[in-house]
Amino acid sequence: MSGLGKLRVAVIGAGAAGLCAARHLLSRRDTFATPVVYELTKNIGGTWVYEERVGCYDNGLPIHRSMYRDLRTNIPKEVMSFPDFTFAKHLPSFVHHTEVRKYLEQYCDHFCLWDHIQFGTSVASVTPVDVKGGWNGLAWDVTSNDGVDHSKSTTERFDAVMVCNGHFYDPYIPAIPGLEKFKGRLMHSHDYRSAEPLAGKSVVLLGAGLSGLDIAMELSNVDAQVILSHGQRPLTCPLPPGVQQAPPVTSVLDDGTLEFKNGERAKPEVFLFCTGYNFTFAFLDKKVGVKVQEHLVWPLYKFLIPPAYPSLFIVGICRAICPFPHFHIQSQFVLSVLDGSFRLPSREEMVKDIELDIAARCGRGIATRHILKLDSEQWAYNDELAHLGGFKALPRYWSNLYESNKVFRARDMLNYKTYNYTVLDNMEWKVHDLHGQQLQKPLAVKKQM
Ligand code: FAD
Repeated sequence: MSGLGKLRVAVIGAGAAGLCAARHLLSRRDTFATPVVYELTKNIGGTWVYEERVGCYDNGLPIHRSMYRDLRTNIPKEVMSFPDFTFAKHLPSFVHHTEVRKYLEQYCDHFCLWDHIQFGTSVASVTPVDVKGGWNGLAWDVTSNDGVDHSKSTTERFDAVMVCNGHFYDPYIPAIPGLEKFKGRLMHSHDYRSAEPLAGKSVVLLGAGLSGLDIAMELSNVDAQVILSHGQRPLTCPLPPGVQQAPPVTSVLDDGTLEFKNGERAKPEVFLFCTGYNFTFAFLDKKVGVKVQEHLVWPLYKFLIPPAYPSLFIVGICRAICPFPHFHIQSQFVLSVLDGSFRLPSREEMVKDIELDIAARCGRGIATRHILKLDSEQWAYNDELAHLGGFKALPRYWSNLYESNKVFRARDMLNYKTYNYTVLDNMEWKVHDLHGQQLQKPLAVKKQM
């Protein structure tokens, strides 16, 4: 505890998750000292700060940005926002990434966050220390580096740490036998900025997640010939011109030809991986015991808390979620744990809870690498945290609108971003297409929610 008896919390990262953590800590001055937010770069916004360069920053650290020049959001602003701070009214539902950055800056203005962020400061280590009288007998030493070449090192002690370092910057490239034999240009979406350099080229794009689909559409606009290679069920919606589907690439032959799972082959000029990212927590002391295995970060109670060190919180690791409201819920849950309004179960009970949860997911046929993909289960997760922490759940329209957008996207990936949504009240919303025609809500979602 700090001298005044208030809890000191460190926040690592000033992306959307870290800002949200700081916003909630600052709203509870009765219990929490002003937080210290460590931010590696000179800006807030993380993912949403577009960086033209690829490779490394001037100080030699790898560039953390994966945003591309023309990206527009894939979630309508009506549900992408934090629930307590809306996007500007005049904006369409699907906004350009520059608008999200502006939105996050306005969030910082509105909740007076700027003064609490230490820019150009990278956290190098987070180490638990046993202390008398600390929160659960525990404190944390956070060592950070700053200065032009990040050589000046400082250590500060905190009662708790919220890790909000993001997970979209360390490219994951699956092991494909013979990959080193590929003779064309090999790249990852992390280094993709715009379509023009690939104009007219033949491209095999591996991965049909949101970025893969988006980039396939951008490449189609510059007359690239794209083979969209992926292991999901074949997409049934209309594809952009020049884009065809194929099963996953399984090997690269001696002459650099790519072979697909069905035995067909291609020899493209570019092999583009849209295969996602690795989690990295290099600063976290090994004794905390948080491991990353097959894209699963564990053991974490409620995907947040290592049972042996329950004043450390790893925020925002779940995937296939609606991120900003998810951070809003997780941050409030963290506060409810720290202020005692939610009493954590014992260490053993938390371990048991994690084991049962993982076993149940595996039992439903979910592979380890997909366990963190909450998808439609995110709503029950959010509601559970709100219930346990005793704070307000998301408005009822949130899940229905979000899930409907997923259905519209699956039906028509070429046009769903031209739709505009209007929220009518706590339950209801409507959606219009580009021509102002009101669309029917998807029946499947109505039944499901
Ligand atoms: P980040 O935004 O990555 O922020 C993490 C911050 O931590 C960064 O500022 C980083 O510099 C800092 N940091 C990291 N390590 C350290 C350290 N050691 N010390 C100090 N600071 C550190 N979400 C949507 O809701 N809608 C979309 O349409 C959407 N589109 C996306 C498109 C792309 C291409 C990508 C990559 C992501 C997209 N997302 C989208 C997801 C998006 O990442 C989340 O919305 C959200 O921005 C993640 O926030 P974050 O704070 O968890 O991580």
